[in-house]
Amino acid sequence: TRQVYTFGGGVKHDDPRAKDKVITGGKGSNLAEMAGIGLPVPPGFTITTEECVKYLAEGGDFSDALRADVVEALTHIEKTVGKSFGDAADPLLVSVRSGARVSMPGMMDTVLNLGLNDETVEGLAKVSGDDRFAWDSYRRFIQMYSDVVLGLDHGRFEEALEIVKEDNGFMNDVELSADDWRGIVTQYKAIVSEELGKPFPQDVHEQLWGAIRAVFDSWDSDRAKVYRRLNDIPGDWGTAVNVQAMVFGNMGETSATGVAFTRDPATGDKAYYGEYLVNAQGEDVVAGIRTPQYLTKAAREASGATAPSMEEAMPKAYGELAAVFELLEKHYADMQDIEFTVQQGKLWMLQTRSGKRTAKAALKMAVEMVGEGLIDEATAIKRVDPMALDQLLHPTLDPEAPRDILAKGLPASPGAASGQIVLDADTAEKRNELGEAVILVRVETSPEDIHGMHAAKGILTARGGMTSHAAVVARGMGRPCVSGASGVSIDMKTRTLRIGYRELKEGDVITLDGATGEIMAGEVPTIEPELAGDFGTLMEWADKHRRMKVRANAETPTDCKMARQFGAEGVGLCRTEHMFFDAGRISAVRQMILAEDEAGRRAALEKLLPEQRADFHAIFDVMAGLPVTIRLLDPPLHEFLPQGEAEFVELSEAIGIGVDTLQRRAGELHELNPMLGHRGCRLGITFPEIYEMQARAIFEAACDVAEASGDAPVPEVMIPLVATRKELAILKKVVDETATAVFAEKGRTLEYIVGTMIELPRAALMAGDIAQEARFFSFGTNDLTQTTLGVSRDDAGRFLSPYVEKGIYPRDPFVSLDVEGVGQLVELGAERGRTTRPDLKLGICGEHGGDPASIAFCEKVGLDYVSASPYRVPIARLAAAQAAL
Ligand code: ADP
Ligand code: MG
Ligand code: MG
Repeated sequence: TRQVYTFGGGVKHDDPRAKDKVITGGKGSNLAEMAGIGLPVPPGFTITTEECVKYLAEGGDFSDALRADVVEALTHIEKTVGKSFGDAADPLLVSVRSGARVSMPGMMDTVLNLGLNDETVEGLAKVSGDDRFAWDSYRRFIQMYSDVVLGLDHGRFEEALEIVKEDNGFMNDVELSADDWRGIVTQYKAIVSEELGKPFPQDVHEQLWGAIRAVFDSWDSDRAKVYRRLNDIPGDWGTAVNVQAMVFGNMGETSATGVAFTRDPATGDKAYYGEYLVNAQGEDVVAGIRTPQYLTKAAREASGATAPSMEEAMPKAYGELAAVFELLEKHYADMQDIEFTVQQGKLWMLQTRSGKRTAKAALKMAVEMVGEGLIDEATAIKRVDPMALDQLLHPTLDPEAPRDILAKGLPASPGAASGQIVLDADTAEKRNELGEAVILVRVETSPEDIHGMHAAKGILTARGGMTSHAAVVARGMGRPCVSGASGVSIDMKTRTLRIGYRELKEGDVITLDGATGEIMAGEVPTIEPELAGDFGTLMEWADKHRRMKVRANAETPTDCKMARQFGAEGVGLCRTEHMFFDAGRISAVRQMILAEDEAGRRAALEKLLPEQRADFHAIFDVMAGLPVTIRLLDPPLHEFLPQGEAEFVELSEAIGIGVDTLQRRAGELHELNPMLGHRGCRLGITFPEIYEMQARAIFEAACDVAEASGDAPVPEVMIPLVATRKELAILKKVVDETATAVFAEKGRTLEYIVGTMIELPRAALMAGDIAQEARFFSFGTNDLTQTTLGVSRDDAGRFLSPYVEKGIYPRDPFVSLDVEGVGQLVELGAERGRTTRPDLKLGICGEHGGDPASIAFCEKVGLDYVSASPYRVPIARLAAAQAAL
């Protein structure tokens, strides 16, 4: 098998590996693909990711075979272009680019103009007839190579350039002449010699191998590792290396470089979107050195900018570009993110990939592309990341609320966020860990800031366009971002900043509106999201394609209403203990707990009954016609006890029992290990009157609602923490007898079922037996994870993240189900339960019910429904559809 693949120059590949992202990386495979469909791609070659993995495993050695293949591939470029690498008269220049399977900030930055040295620069000047261009290219190369490959700090190079500009009164790089650049090259080389103790490498082959080595090594850089951890990217993928003939956007006014999206990545609008810079190279557009110009006339006019758009300034090249956009969208059937260069009027394609997009844009594009016949419904469903819906389900700024606008930047990533200003990524991370909402404010961001961007609620940059690093990363992460806000200036020494005319300091609160680019003082109130439109359409498709039902974990009428709005088809978990904490009834609850005997408990429960009945009544009203699973009391009783002297005194006055007695009773309830103590069904076994009261409240409320509306709810009474069939049998009898009594009193019967949570390993193992008594199982995977792993959920914070970092668990098992381990118990429990009772209803109600990966597992083992918190219901609906497809 080959480890080096050439592209461009009419190469035809039979080997599918050439276009396989896994082998040639995202960038390399798409370059091969574009060249293959006849687009203008400068010729080049790709060294495979496998070669990178091998290189790293072998401790940083290139094999002879690789060296030979690279030399041969280089000949392919030389032949196609008609220039030779290192030729002093007419040199071939190349770029060296990294490219992993997925695009990954943190990997090595691209090196451009490689192949220049003191001799070839003269040749380049002669053949191009443009001294300035040649020396501009050489100084770019020295700086990039020194920074990226030799590991020198770019600060000194920038400083040297700044001084020359200041001395000459230049504002822009374009004002420097050939001689100015020549002088800068001399200075740059001196800096390298000084810092490195040896001169800048003049041998072009040494340059090339140095750059290839740097790409491979960058796979194991700290930046790359952080990014991989945050994005669940395995460490053994490796990166490919792309070596490609240079084309030049810096050859005067008819040359340019740009980036573009075939549709608007922020809104999803079907309009070309992008930026370009005349007489510039490579990353100039994203680096924010000069303000880029718009691609289209319409965008320029809408923004009020005067600098001509590419459509106006270079109509011919723009026309070619527009044709390429159409072709690529059809070819990939997706929105593309494109990098291009125009060299003296001729268009060259340098990259294409599926464009990152906001959740809103992803939705809109998916729905519209179905309308255009570009994709089908199933593809549309699969194309939207369920977790990204989160962005849409959360509030946006209230348009009615007053806004104290400080300044405006570019609307780089939508959504709204308020928080304290922080000026660097480490501070952002620290404050976030303390639970503070922060906004990261930077001149511009780089891959080193990723952890801070992740920790921040929003990102604000003074420089950079809509395609800057900050903008792209923020959109990917779903963080609101305002970029290129020139009204922001930061003084890192005093840690203060000026936004517009206002002086602010780190810690001051601001609000960002990523949809308008506005930066506001203080916190601005928000409003609820819009659930119709594209969102509604995609959800409808998802509902059509999914098998599992989606319910909500909800225990208040407000939560239930929200859950219904989000499309919940019932309540999968109504936790009754939350109702016990209510201010109006906690003293009755405490009286019940602290009572010395059954009579005392019954007296207190008597007071709670009407309250609890009212709770269920309100919930049944909202959930009319839908199933509601109500879990009887679960937590250890001591959780409800008074905290501190004052609360005991208050309770003593309320119920007329002495403080001493109360405190003694409370002491008796103390447990060493309450999560494995007197809780769950064990409460029902010891104090059946508690469950009896709850069952009575449920059935009375259900009868009342049926009476009033005719639309009877279907209560599903759930017994928690069952380990044995006997426990369930005893408690089921309590519930059934109560039901019979209530139905007799009310003169009507209602449908209801009794079931259990499966949240102990024994229960999963004995599921066949337990199913004799249970009409349904709900896998309580929070406790099941806790008890199977022997890891306390409440204490795991201290040690679980190193566990995940070391790959002991691939993800936090309380967030994403440990399919390998805990999953076995779920699968086995489901199987054994169904063997006993084929129509056993199966669901899941842990946090995992809202996690797409866990939902996929639930589909696989054939559960009937998942239950998630209300905000996660749409995520679960989409994830369930994706799992079914
Ligand atoms: P990244 O992965 O960070 O986008 P790239 O490898 O795509 O890095 O390179 C960044 C930019 O460098 C490209 O968008 C393009 O403008 C420029 N570039 C890369 N290779 C070439 C080339 N062969 N000729 C001209 N410009 C190039
Ligand atoms: Mg690129
Ligand atoms: Mg539990």
